[in-house]
Amino acid sequence: MGHNLRMAERVIPIVDQRSKVLQPQVPAAATHTLATGQLYDTRARPLRDLRISVTDRCNFRCGYCMPKEVFGKEYRYLSHDDLLRFEEITRLARLFMAHGVHKIRLTGGEPLLRKHLERLVEQLAELRTTEGRVPDLTLTTNGSLLARKARALKDAGLQRVTVSLDSLDDAVFRRMNDVDFPVAEVLAGIEAAQAAGLAHIKVNMVVKRGTNDHEIPRMARHFRGTGITLRFIEYMDVGATNGWRMDQVVPSAEVIARLRAELPLVPLAPSALGETAQRWGWAGADGRHDPGLGEVGVISSVTQAFCGDCNRARLSMEGRLYLCLFATQGWDLRSLLRGAASDAQISAAIANIWQGRSDRYSELRASLPADTGTGGRRIEMSYIGG
Ligand code: SAM
Ligand code: SF4
Ligand code: SF4
Repeated sequence: MGHNLRMAERVIPIVDQRSKVLQPQVPAAATHTLATGQLYDTRARPLRDLRISVTDRCNFRCGYCMPKEVFGKEYRYLSHDDLLRFEEITRLARLFMAHGVHKIRLTGGEPLLRKHLERLVEQLAELRTTEGRVPDLTLTTNGSLLARKARALKDAGLQRVTVSLDSLDDAVFRRMNDVDFPVAEVLAGIEAAQAAGLAHIKVNMVVKRGTNDHEIPRMARHFRGTGITLRFIEYMDVGATNGWRMDQVVPSAEVIARLRAELPLVPLAPSALGETAQRWGWAGADGRHDPGLGEVGVISSVTQAFCGDCNRARLSMEGRLYLCLFATQGWDLRSLLRGAASDAQISAAIANIWQGRSDRYSELRASLPADTGTGGRRIEMSYIGG
């Protein structure tokens, strides 16, 4: 393990990322009483958003996430017993919600590859926030199985969906997913989600210079006026296998400038604290935002750090808790679940972990040595799901 595969332009380390990730000791429960109430970290950031990765498998091999050279036939995925069961996920989600989580996003790998995912959605939809409301329940998917599953997911209580789509050009799309998957099937999935009544559908496009940046205006025109919000994501240096280079990042400011050269756009106010996207509205003939034409978003994870508002925790498919996309360490909550810890003990552990959080990788990026987060090997995006 650990040798390098030399590609035309990049060096991809072939290692089992998971084994390299530090496994810190879960903090001992400070109290055995069930701790509830909004948690804040050391930088006064509240815990509001929980992203749950339900599988490490994917049927795509996007080069920026699961490059074929690393995630090939020999790659060993987790066994089914390693994955948290739906009941375990729901139990943790309930404890997180008692600590202030309002929004739950299911992700992966490709979450729709997890069998009977609608049963998990059903269980999560029964949970309540500290104010007694249903959680904002959403899912990020590559869309390949959405046409088949949208209706069942909606019926189970899923409210929203985000579909990743990097190009409308079939040849470019097939190249980017690297498994020759046709774009028409993803577009059919988006239509099925609309027909099923899933609200506020978003489409995420990772923009990579020289690969799909020429598709920016076409994507924008395609989704303008459809009720779907397109968001352009800066290609990020997540994980350690995608051979990231700064010159392949298209800064959000450039994306907006390119769009404004063709169509009128006006800046919009953020709709929620901790929102990752900056919003821009399509303007009508009077130069003002026309809600009928909708909006686009840009997520500037590289050029404009948003750590100051970061309120997200990430739970991996095997029950490790990560507090940053660029983390090198995750806390093993599964051993608490399977070691017969009480709700009060797990809840206190979650509180101790969040209250000790100080992550702000994107703010520090420029001053850190390459290929490190906080000292150690970064976890892959396909493991914690974005
Ligand atoms: N498979 C699902 C999908 O593609 O939507 C969910 C998991 S995927 C890891 C979640 C999101 O992360 C996707 O929108 C994907 O485009 C994004 N992503 C993965 N690697 C990325 C990178 N290096 N930079 C920016 N976004 C990335
Ligand atoms: Fe799979 Fe999503 Fe990663 Fe693409 S971005 S390889 S679809 S997990
Ligand atoms: Fe949050 Fe880490 Fe991203 Fe900063 S770098 S916004 S702390 S996930």
